[in-house]
Amino acid sequence: MITIAIDGHAGAGKSTAARALARALGLVYLDTGAMYRMMGLKALRQGADPGDEAAVLPMLESTRIEVAAEGGEQRFLLDGEDVSSAIRTAECGMAASAVSAIPAVREKLVALQQQIARGANVVMDGRDIGTVVLPNAKYKFFVTASPAVRAQRRYQELVEKGLPAKPVKELEAEIEKRDYDDTHRAHSPLRQAEDAEYIDTTGMSAQEVIDHMLRRVQEGEAGHDQTV
Ligand code: C5P
Repeated sequence: MITIAIDGHAGAGKSTAARALARALGLVYLDTGAMYRMMGLKALRQGADPGDEAAVLPMLESTRIEVAAEGGEQRFLLDGEDVSSAIRTAECGMAASAVSAIPAVREKLVALQQQIARGANVVMDGRDIGTVVLPNAKYKFFVTASPAVRAQRRYQELVEKGLPAKPVKELEAEIEKRDYDDTHRAHSPLRQAEDAEYIDTTGMSAQEVIDHMLRRVQEGEAGHDQTV
């Protein structure tokens, strides 16, 4: 079994690396941030404050969050509607961060994530994969980069996807706020698992990060073969 957990700060390059590892190693990839974004989008669409537990809780039972694989890509379905593009805005990222602090939201989504991982070779990226969702993951990485570099990457990503992009300085401020909120929430705060490898990607290209992780996994699997 190969299970890989990639955690870290917003915009550190987790999903780019996870997607590449999935392709190279033939793993199922799950972008768990997208699931929180779907709940954030739902709250926004209902006109609710995503951080208001009393407003979000009644939605939780009736909301259908589904992840479908389509041609090697994931499609995210919110109550049956494909919201894969709609969830990518910075506004949805902020809403995701707010709903993700609500314990019942985390419980529902973690259960779903663990169900998807059961019996599969997976790579998941998020904030609590190595600590909560897959504590026994065979490979764990914790990635970060300076806020300025992460804001620049987010900006490029939004532009490339044809989505509305705010000025880089504003994105940087949002990233710093999300870092703060994600690391200070009471329930499953973002933190590095003790057995995760810390990677600062500030001066690294996406390909360098991918190659580094691939090497780790390949070394691990080679070592594993020898001991069996
Ligand atoms: O990774 P992404 O930027 O899409 O995540 C959006 C937000 O969802 C994060 O800022 C974080 O608050 C939340 N999240 C989480 N746990 C995860 C994945 C994402 O709390 N496993």
